Amino acid sequence: MKITHRDEWRVIVTIAPRSISDFGFEGLGDIAGPVTSGPIEVAVAPRRLGDFGWVSMGDRLASNDIDGDYKRRCEELLAALLGRPHVREGRIVCTETHTCSHCGYVWEVLTAEEAADPANQQDEHTVEGEPVCCDKAIAEFRAERGIAVHAEGVVAYRRPHRPGEVLCREHGYPWFALPLTSEDLPDGGVCSYGRRGLGSCGRDVLAAGAGESA
Ligand SMILES: [Zn+2]
Ligand SMILES: [Zn+2]
Repeated sequence: MKITHRDEWRVIVTIAPRSISDFGFEGLGDIAGPVTSGPIEVAVAPRRLGDFGWVSMGDRLASNDIDGDYKRRCEELLAALLGRPHVREGRIVCTETHTCSHCGYVWEVLTAEEAADPANQQDEHTVEGEPVCCDKAIAEFRAERGIAVHAEGVVAYRRPHRPGEVLCREHGYPWFALPLTSEDLPDGGVCSYGRRGLGSCGRDVLAAGAGESA
């Protein structure tokens, strides 16, 4: 699942001072004329949520809705700034980064063009919008849309570096193993997932419905 992180909140205001004293530079009235430069854009960061002046802590300790609280703080700051002389207009900006909830990598999805390129396809069911970071994100994306995770006729998978073993459809994700049909397994096969440890599978991959867990 895509998680959006927002950061670097800023209030940007346009200021159009007419005299040098509008900047707070006092005592120049005898020698200075009007300000002749155009409006100036100024970016102001909101005060950190965890900064209470007398004590400072991480934002996470100070708020359980960091994004919402920063947005509200920026709205308040913007409204206050717009009420000041010479402030013409303003807006709130922030940076957004998207990461995967499963693997933590940057969230990227295939464009229509990329999805049509066999080099980017996990299998023939790959479509536009499919994430690329990890098998869990892909399985989740497909489950939400009712897209088959496994190709037609595939009963099991084989990892290239362990040719003597097979994995059932639950444990052999198509994107890191070679698909096998029942014809590839004339003598049948038993899933070797977890064979060396706890939680071993041992499922007969030719049994009806084997691995239909998704
Ligand atoms: Zn991921
Ligand atoms: Zn298995």
